Amino acid sequence: MDVDAGHGAALGGALPTQPGELPLARRLRSLLSWPSTETDPVTHLVRTHRAIHTGTDPSVLRRAYTIAENMHRGQFRKSGEPYITHPLAVAQICAELGMDPTTLVAALLHDTVEDTRYTLQALAEDFGGEVAHLVDGVTKFDKAFYGKAAEAETTRKMIIAAGKDVRVLIIKLADRLHNMRTLGVRSASSRERIARKTLEVLVPLCDRLGIQTLKRELDDVVLLHLEPDEHARIARFVHDRPGWDAYLGDVVAKAKVALRRSRVDAEVAPRPRHLYSIWKDTVAGSHGTPYDLPRIVIVVDGPTTDCYAALGAVHGLWRPAPGRFKDFIASPKNNLYRSLHTSVCGPKNRTVEVLIRTAEMHRAAEYGIAADFRSPRTAGAAARAQQLDWLRRVLDWEQETADPAQFLQSLRCDLAEAQIQVVTEGRQVVLPAGATPVDVAYELGPERGDRCLAARINGRLAPLSSELDEGDVVEIFTETDAETGFEADVAPRGPRKEWLGFVKSPHAQMQINRWFAEHTEPGISIADKVRLGRATIGLTLRKHNRGLANDLPLLRLSEELGYPDLETMLVAVFDRAIEPDAVVLQLIDLVDHRH
Ligand code: MN
Repeated sequence: MDVDAGHGAALGGALPTQPGELPLARRLRSLLSWPSTETDPVTHLVRTHRAIHTGTDPSVLRRAYTIAENMHRGQFRKSGEPYITHPLAVAQICAELGMDPTTLVAALLHDTVEDTRYTLQALAEDFGGEVAHLVDGVTKFDKAFYGKAAEAETTRKMIIAAGKDVRVLIIKLADRLHNMRTLGVRSASSRERIARKTLEVLVPLCDRLGIQTLKRELDDVVLLHLEPDEHARIARFVHDRPGWDAYLGDVVAKAKVALRRSRVDAEVAPRPRHLYSIWKDTVAGSHGTPYDLPRIVIVVDGPTTDCYAALGAVHGLWRPAPGRFKDFIASPKNNLYRSLHTSVCGPKNRTVEVLIRTAEMHRAAEYGIAADFRSPRTAGAAARAQQLDWLRRVLDWEQETADPAQFLQSLRCDLAEAQIQVVTEGRQVVLPAGATPVDVAYELGPERGDRCLAARINGRLAPLSSELDEGDVVEIFTETDAETGFEADVAPRGPRKEWLGFVKSPHAQMQINRWFAEHTEPGISIADKVRLGRATIGLTLRKHNRGLANDLPLLRLSEELGYPDLETMLVAVFDRAIEPDAVVLQLIDLVDHRH
């Protein structure tokens, strides 16, 4: 980029200057933007962003930065750096993922509402409702008002916001990644606490969204904070292993020749594992020294069928290791990851792992859900809408879980890594490891679950509590299945309490709890209180023949009354800590006299 071109340079060279433009107009434009390229911290961000989104006008990014910088001025990170370095770094991570300008603006402003005098209302007026929604989604509930429930409620709020717009989760992940990168200056105990929370919720969320580029770094930084010695040991091992690069170079060259002979156009490259993944395999296999196999990736130029042609070429060159072939193209992982995996007996009789995929699959494997924002016209966009199915289901539990801690627990459980696939009624179902026929029954629908009586696993009758294995074929019988031969003369029965002792999927747990909740008093969650508080205000307003077109007057009032956010005020209304009539009269006053 041109850094020394007179007035135009003041724009960081990022704004195209019209060739016929008058110097005065240029000077005016430069006065309105950042004073100097040398010190302009946004330039790098703009450059990264425009490398992918060439058409973006960077002025909105600069405006967001200026406001964030202004608001955070005088605040510092624990490291002593000015606070603004954090939101800027978060926006940079989002830009590297290829996110759109709206996400970057929200990333720059993501801590303003929580930590500065900037309000959500002002933010909405300055940058629009979309940005406000994203920022609100990552804004924490106030501990002073919510106490112990704050953390779980915050997660729940974030997930709900992500249900409307998944970019909330992407900003949260980038936020946590930067916080983890800079955890070094915190106390040992808070490092461990934050690392553990990251491992339990955010890393699995990242995995579920398929954003491997972020997940790799989060994994490694978690390992660094939880097991610093192990991190150092693996890093040392990876750093000095003689002959490793030369060996991989040889493998890549030979694979390329074989592919060319089979007329498959493809890129071939070494595919190093990240430290966490090496460490996990080392521990899992109880290896004395770190365990890592040479690995390459083949990205074919053509269609999916070329992947199988490439597989043929590789297996023709090197003998495949038995039982190591996996076809994640025919049967993708639950985060929609697709590739062929195989292990072969490579040069010098060493086992080599080979990944084979198309360019589209490669992009999806690296960026997951973020790939849609990177290039909105990619072919996989429609398929990746499915990626959000689990999120929708999570939102279903939200409707049914009164207790935020239970919600968080279910989320963790659903995100647990170990999963099995079973077949039922001709379709594949992904369940947590250790799942039972009852889990399968609820997967088929709540009525099937509630009425499930018996099951056959691989053709044999089995107890409903049997733990299923990968690949099992499961048949579910309910009292309404006429042909089952089970007596159907008993009154319709619901689930059994003891099922709660063995079901593994949060979905099944939730459904069973829902059934029992219908016979008992439901608890009231903060989310319910917020909803009911809002409804109360709505009804009271109607008494005065008024209504509200949007939340902005409520937001302003909550600020004027000194609440940390709108939700807190609505809870106060529900709890009758403040009288709805009083709130409504002040609200009307505010609306009528705002000019
Ligand atoms: Mn932050």
